[in-house]
Amino acid sequence: MKKMNVESFNLDHTKVKAPYVRLVGVTEGVNGDKVYKYDIRFKQPNKEYMEMAGLHSIEHLMAENIRNHMDNVLDISPMGCQTGFYLSIINNDSYDEVLVTLEKTLQDVLEASVVPACNEVQCGWAANHSLEGAKEIAKEMLAKKDEWREVF
Ligand SMILES: [Zn+2]
Repeated sequence: MKKMNVESFNLDHTKVKAPYVRLVGVTEGVNGDKVYKYDIRFKQPNKEYMEMAGLHSIEHLMAENIRNHMDNVLDISPMGCQTGFYLSIINNDSYDEVLVTLEKTLQDVLEASVVPACNEVQCGWAANHSLEGAKEIAKEMLAKKDEWREVF
């Protein structure tokens, strides 16, 4: 296959084994700052996916809570295929810390009683949320945390 610009377009999605946490790449800026991008795959590509309302709620919950556990988070965003998230962090090369942070953040999801910022002022589709759906996704991901290090 032709080499594409997007790293994940060069990843054979039929060969991966979800769930997993994979370092996509490291980008260094002109001042030496380094951005680490991770592929956090919750669901097996082309076999399973996260339902939109639950995915949307777990996105809000993780985006808000992950920053309580790690200072270096730039962004955590869902993939359009609804099978995972991209996490970008700056100047922290610890894969182990990412796993611990993810675990704590998913625990927060299980303990949540509301979805943060789930209203028309703070969100672009406030009607499309499911706290229960988010908890199901988190629970399933946490149950398989022993597999997170294995991508293939
Ligand atoms: Zn939203």
